[in-house]
Amino acid sequence: MTRRTPDSCPGVLRLHQAADGPLARIRVPGGRLTPAQVQTLADAARDLGNGALELTSRGNIQLRQVRDAQDLAARLDAAGLLPSPSHERVRNIVASPLSGRVGGWADVHGLAAGLDTGLLADSRLADLPGRVLFTLDDGRGDVSVLRGDIGIHAVGADEFALLLAGTDTGLRVSADEAVEVMLAAAHGFLDLRGTGTDGQWRLHEIPGGAERVTEILDRSPTGAPLELGAAQGIPIGWLEQDNGLVSLGAGVPLGLLPARTAEFIAAVERPVFVTPWRSIVLTDLDEGPAETVVRVLAPMGLIFDAAAPWLEVTACAGRPGCAKSHTDVRADVAAAVDTGRVLPGDGTTPPTAAGIGSSPEHDSGTGGEVDPTAVTDRTPPAENSVPAEAVTVAGRQHWSGCERRCGRPTGPVTDVVATTEGYLVTPPDHR
Ligand code: SF4
Repeated sequence: MTRRTPDSCPGVLRLHQAADGPLARIRVPGGRLTPAQVQTLADAARDLGNGALELTSRGNIQLRQVRDAQDLAARLDAAGLLPSPSHERVRNIVASPLSGRVGGWADVHGLAAGLDTGLLADSRLADLPGRVLFTLDDGRGDVSVLRGDIGIHAVGADEFALLLAGTDTGLRVSADEAVEVMLAAAHGFLDLRGTGTDGQWRLHEIPGGAERVTEILDRSPTGAPLELGAAQGIPIGWLEQDNGLVSLGAGVPLGLLPARTAEFIAAVERPVFVTPWRSIVLTDLDEGPAETVVRVLAPMGLIFDAAAPWLEVTACAGRPGCAKSHTDVRADVAAAVDTGRVLPGDGTTPPTAAGIGSSPEHDSGTGGEVDPTAVTDRTPPAENSVPAEAVTVAGRQHWSGCERRCGRPTGPVTDVVATTEGYLVTPPDHR
């Protein structure tokens, strides 16, 4: 397929004009942030934005209602969060957050950093669409299910499957080869895609795209095809690291992290990972400090309980951020959670990486990075709509301000879609 509109993914140097004001998206390759970078983002959100950091479904950060784009760019540049004006929007790299600390075949964070360096050093790759996604999975299967365009998936301590358009090509590479091969695949995508407004944004939009890039790479498949898609629990709560230290996984309701909370996270002075499930992982803590962190941050709204209702819910931006929205979706979701109308699924299964925040792309209200082509027509008759205060849903659910359903996760999710009459609720098995 081809697009008739240019790629309009926002960045720091190209803001999105949302209904509530200019919006900046800051790429965080591999999701990794230093404490100083978290502090910079908190300061920027408070001084220049609406006071909150928005976590996206690609582990990036958005700031809304940006008042001074120049000041923001200068601050991010000084913090190492804007290393290249030409490449800022192509650094969409997601890596298994717990890699190298808790399980997994290999530590892919070094490869994520190497891939970022390789992208920045290659002038032609600045032409990649801002929608292209790289995934680096350490073998646990958490980020390969995001169906990135180009990725690796560890199948051994020094062996990785090359994934293209979310599927295994059968090609196998070592750690030493992985970055070079991913960069070559990115060039292959550029060789194949159309130009200008006719250019495809994603590899899967090119007929036979994955196969054709595999041919360009001129390597022989050696591996049995991997079956991807097994659900993984998202990292929430107390996580024992392989080295005896502790990581803490914290859910962030609707991905909205107040600047004040971010300041407390920065003050912990440990590496932080932003996950593609709108949560964070604080790493490398001793047990005592980890207990203190939970005691401080849980009352501030971070979620350390994998069974919490908030972890069942995703939502688009809604009003006031998106002009298309029929309502303030996030306020309606908060009311539903507060009044006990968001119920557990089967009561035993924690939310999964396959389903939380796994939508791939950008959206109109930028309430989630979503691919509008992924939207399906599953809307029941309008007369079935109910008022917001009557919506009660069990299990994974996505609330949207209109039928575009931006940010909707993949997999079995109940759709709660606003209309002029109220909300339409469509269970996952409704067709
Ligand atoms: S689903 Fe509709 S209301 Fe929500 S962000 Fe997308 S376009 Fe806006």
